[in-house]
Amino acid sequence: MKIRLAADLQPDSIVDGPGVRTVVWTQGCPHHCPGCHNPMTHDFEGGALVEVEEVLKELEQLKNQDGITLSGGDPVCQSEACLEIAKKAHQLGMDVWCYTGFNYEQMLNNPRQRALLEEIDVLVDGKFIQELKSYNLYFKGSSNQRIIDVKNSLQQGKVVLVEKYQNEKEEMNTYKKPEYIFI
Ligand code: SF4
Repeated sequence: MKIRLAADLQPDSIVDGPGVRTVVWTQGCPHHCPGCHNPMTHDFEGGALVEVEEVLKELEQLKNQDGITLSGGDPVCQSEACLEIAKKAHQLGMDVWCYTGFNYEQMLNNPRQRALLEEIDVLVDGKFIQELKSYNLYFKGSSNQRIIDVKNSLQQGKVVLVEKYQNEKEEMNTYKKPEYIFI
């Protein structure tokens, strides 16, 4: 099986979920949200086709990563390949976050997407909406997006949000640039 990726795996990210994470940048997104930060990842013919097996081997070589983050592009458009990657991450003791422009309910109603959902710990769902953009949000670009605890949501049959990421970041509101930073 192959997966179309926009870039190499990116270890050591601290902005794509909690802790230190490796980002899997998938290529191809149908949503075309105005203001998207990654428009180069939209083309379904772009990026590079890579054997999933190669990605799994790269995951095995990672050191000191808390988890992986499926991003893009929209990883849900390549559910089957992402499912294999998510399973491997779990086998290696890493948790799995996934960003998508689809929403949780849509994924529940699509068998292939639901299978992926069952291997995801936290889903950040919904399109990016420029008018709702804020820099004070945890791990998401606009306030409409939801940071969903997938395991609890599936167990309870309703969307359960990750409580600690719901409020805006207070420290950002009072941030002042230290004088020793010259940029
Ligand atoms: S879903 Fe994400 S990658 Fe796709 S257009 Fe929207 S912001 Fe960009």
